[in-house]
Amino acid sequence: MNILVINGGSSTLKATLRSLPDGDLPPDAPSPLWDAQVDWGRNPGKAQIRVRGPAAVTETEIDIQSPADVLKPVIETIWSGQSKALDGPNQIAVIGHRVVHGGIAFQETTRITPDVRAEIRKYCEFAPEHNRLELEAIEESEQIFGPDLPQVAVFDTAFHTSISQAAAVYPGPYEWFEKGIRRYGFHGISHQYASRRAALILGRDPAVLRLVTCHLGNGASLAAVRYGKSVDTTMGFTPLDGLMMGTRSGSIDPGILIYLVRHQGLRADELDRLLNRESGLKGVSGISGDMREILDAIDKGDERARLAFDVYAHRLCREIGGMVATLGGMDALVFTAGIGENCAPLRAVVCEKLAFLGIQLDAGKNEHPAMDTDIAAAESPVRVLVIRADEDWEIARECHRLCGEGLT
Ligand code: ADP
Repeated sequence: MNILVINGGSSTLKATLRSLPDGDLPPDAPSPLWDAQVDWGRNPGKAQIRVRGPAAVTETEIDIQSPADVLKPVIETIWSGQSKALDGPNQIAVIGHRVVHGGIAFQETTRITPDVRAEIRKYCEFAPEHNRLELEAIEESEQIFGPDLPQVAVFDTAFHTSISQAAAVYPGPYEWFEKGIRRYGFHGISHQYASRRAALILGRDPAVLRLVTCHLGNGASLAAVRYGKSVDTTMGFTPLDGLMMGTRSGSIDPGILIYLVRHQGLRADELDRLLNRESGLKGVSGISGDMREILDAIDKGDERARLAFDVYAHRLCREIGGMVATLGGMDALVFTAGIGENCAPLRAVVCEKLAFLGIQLDAGKNEHPAMDTDIAAAESPVRVLVIRADEDWEIARECHRLCGEGLT
């Protein structure tokens, strides 16, 4: 069964084609037959495309009017040109799309129908940068493959639809909640993958585990996962809530916004830019939202970079503490995504601060972890795992599961 996964962001797109057996899936992701990475965020009107097929890797740059223009030339390289992997589009069984916002309407992976599209469109208001582009990708895929090829939406919010009302309701006027202003949570595909993978690595049944999964990439969020289900998460109504991130502030005193509106006359789009693009590691350090650049600057003695790292670690520990309180204890702490997988100094600081919870790291394993391993000391009652984020594999698995159930 050939499954194509399309995972689009606001300035990049990844597509992956995997050939999977009809029955049970292997525990580890098989290498893709073909994959493509597209970046349209660097030069306006241009897209850089890198395609890897069975026989060749190709790199090209094309002119585009809109991000949707990129899909057709990229997808056609699956069956034509040097990176060709299949004989034709009819060899693909299903397409899985990552969709950022499914609200509470979509509690699980769903086959895309006109009604489903209309529902996804409703959430464009809540996630304008994402849902609109994702809908364009779904529509463009239908143009390329025709209406009979099943398309499936895998939602970043779905994993968190299990959180309680107490975790979901913001303590403003209740009518906010009635109008959809509530905690949704994001990165759900990654948290779901990491928690499932953690149970595999630990050799335990997910139904007995209490996990805190830390997705620390450019965006960052935590999930408290009890017995395989998300019970709390740090992102909220939007992906701006919760942890400090690369360029996003995370949670701040809402009184700051009132002050900025009242005393500096800031408007909504200026606040949006400040909080989403000029805050976080970038805002505090004044250097960059990229953790590697922060670490380099710390090595050179830059004090603001040090402060940015310290604030990041402080807030991460505070939020992990909150998740542990929701769970009523923790069996394992899971680090995933760019910073989670690669930033040993951060993992060391966080685990040291949380030693009172029973966490003890193996310093050697923390410095050079193999991916998907346990880096806690042998005697640590709480395990610490480093897991490579693999949302595309989780989306492919979801498509495979739905195909097995007859794509209802
Ligand atoms: P995205 O959310 O865009 O998918 P990633 O998961 O790739 O982001 O994470 C990007 C972050 O990971 C950046 O802050 C980057 O600096 C950080 N990162 C990548 N490699 C390292 C490393 N070796 N040490 C510290 N941080 C790293």
